[in-house]
Amino acid sequence: MEKRIDGKAIAAAVRGQVKTDTAAMKADGITPGLAVVLVGDDPASRTYVRNKHKDCEETGIYSEVHHLPDSTSQKDLMALIAELNARADIDGILVQLPLPKGLDEREVINAIAPDKDVDAFHPENVGHIMIGDYTFLPCTPSGVMEMLHHEQIPVDGKRCVVVGRSNIVGKPMAMLLLHENGTVTICHSHTQKLKEICQEADILVAAVGRPKFITADMVKPGAVVIDVGMDRDENGKLCGDVDYAAVEPIASRITPVPGGVGPMTRAMLLKNTLTAARLHHRQAQPSDRE
Ligand code: NAP
Repeated sequence: MEKRIDGKAIAAAVRGQVKTDTAAMKADGITPGLAVVLVGDDPASRTYVRNKHKDCEETGIYSEVHHLPDSTSQKDLMALIAELNARADIDGILVQLPLPKGLDEREVINAIAPDKDVDAFHPENVGHIMIGDYTFLPCTPSGVMEMLHHEQIPVDGKRCVVVGRSNIVGKPMAMLLLHENGTVTICHSHTQKLKEICQEADILVAAVGRPKFITADMVKPGAVVIDVGMDRDENGKLCGDVDYAAVEPIASRITPVPGGVGPMTRAMLLKNTLTAARLHHRQAQPSDRE
């Protein structure tokens, strides 16, 4: 078996399924719709938004991009969110983060209707994830789980170490591994004996944001290594949080950067948009019991 987990190929399979499901929904008169809000001109954010729009076009999902200037006020942004919340043709709302300085990200996320929150950042959805009774999962951790399932990598009973505790990756990642009966440790910048803890991992997830941070001496022979990082190396080239060349010979399975978790994140957004559309359609239908 190839060690490298091909996120590009798995994501293509997810997109293929989304395309089929979208066509079936359209045949039933439902067109899933996604609104993406981009404020300012951050080049990376612009690329992410362009890619999301392209993915929607390719899979038949309606999508619209609201590109607002850097100078947008909190009030105007909140008004746009309220308008999108109220629209029946929009099932999912995604606000591209980070927002420019001066805008209150938390207030904006909290204003998105939880049933349109395809990023699953709203506190209501975060709470559902904690309980294990959720509709939406954040795209990056759910993309990692999709990869593990696709590759039939068992989590149950495994020692899982997540390096990073952000709200968008590390924390929900740990929770999803826990829901599948992994024994999970979360590490962060105050963790002591990080190397020793990482060495215990059967499944090691790196979500640190530091190029080649996970070195070969931190990895147990035969471990599954998932690299969430999207960093730049000393030459400005895209790389991950894992020193791939050094770790690959030790790991049993490993995700590359690029071509690993990144494409999965994009694909899971499409899945979440379909979930939202199904939810809204069910809400719009009279109950079977009526
Ligand atoms: P973040 O919010 O900056 O969080 C980084 C985490 O790493 C923090 O919890 C931090 O600890 C921890 N950390 C930093 N230095 C450390 C150290 N020396 N030892 C141990 N832990 C340390 O980043 P993020 O948003 O989670 O993103 C992480 C990486 O994933 C970035 O490279 C980002 O670009 C990438 N990413 C990729 C995708 C994708 O689709 N592939 C999606 C999202 C993010 P503290 O909490 O103590 O500060």
